[in-house]
Amino acid sequence: MDSHIEDVRGSDYDSAIRPPYVAEDRIHYEFTLILRIFMEQLNPPAGKQIFQAPDHNGRLWPALRWNRASWLDFTGRYTEMVLKVWDKAFLLVPPANFDGFLWPPGGKRRTLLCRLRIKIQDTADKAHARIRVVRLASPSRSSFRSNSGLYDSEDVKLTRIRWKDGVSFLHNTPAHEVGHLLGLWHSNSGGEKCSEDQGSNECYGSNLYERMNVMGGGGMLDLEDSRPWRHRIPFHTNRGRMADWKAEWASSEAQLRGLEGFEVEEKYKQPYVPPKPGLIDL
Ligand SMILES: [Zn+2]
Repeated sequence: MDSHIEDVRGSDYDSAIRPPYVAEDRIHYEFTLILRIFMEQLNPPAGKQIFQAPDHNGRLWPALRWNRASWLDFTGRYTEMVLKVWDKAFLLVPPANFDGFLWPPGGKRRTLLCRLRIKIQDTADKAHARIRVVRLASPSRSSFRSNSGLYDSEDVKLTRIRWKDGVSFLHNTPAHEVGHLLGLWHSNSGGEKCSEDQGSNECYGSNLYERMNVMGGGGMLDLEDSRPWRHRIPFHTNRGRMADWKAEWASSEAQLRGLEGFEVEEKYKQPYVPPKPGLIDL
């Protein structure tokens, strides 16, 4: 029987595989990617409650000192927004010639449920990423420009992206940025117009499907987004190439994640006109 390694450490993320008897659902092996994120409060100098915090462009915004309640709220929402997109979305199916992940031992072949765990820590010790966070004093009057290493307290709210012709959907900043931490590029990063400038608008997607993906700025997933797990599994099994492992949806709920914020303005909805039978080529 093929064996596997339970724990693998990496500079990008750690990972762990646990048997069904300790898994939440008692059915699958759980394959968990673990991201340790050093989250650092940006606070005013000692004795002060307010200061001017620079954003990505160097523009200054009034900011407050963090307190315990606001920090717990921020980190809690951050984790929730990330997991609601990425956790328990995919199943990995072992290659046909792989004789492992049987449960009970020698028993039935099992698939692996892809899980994600976020560990927020307040030191740089062994962290995979570092994010500094500004607590804005007047969120409604600010357009603080964030980047992957610098957040503001409003980044843990879903924002509506107006695409075109009345179509809009919700953008989940933490889930998108975690996708980058897991090694994913933008949805259309291979696109012709994108190859010149990876930060250009074109990279987020050339059509609605790509745009609504979490890596296009929306909150939906594609089976291709299982890449971080498929990329890591050969390190646990010492067998097979990434391509030998197939991804499936863990649930129909996972397939529809991110769709709930999709809207088309009434005036842009086209009435249905049935085709004239004479024009249909049978
Ligand atoms: Zn991005």
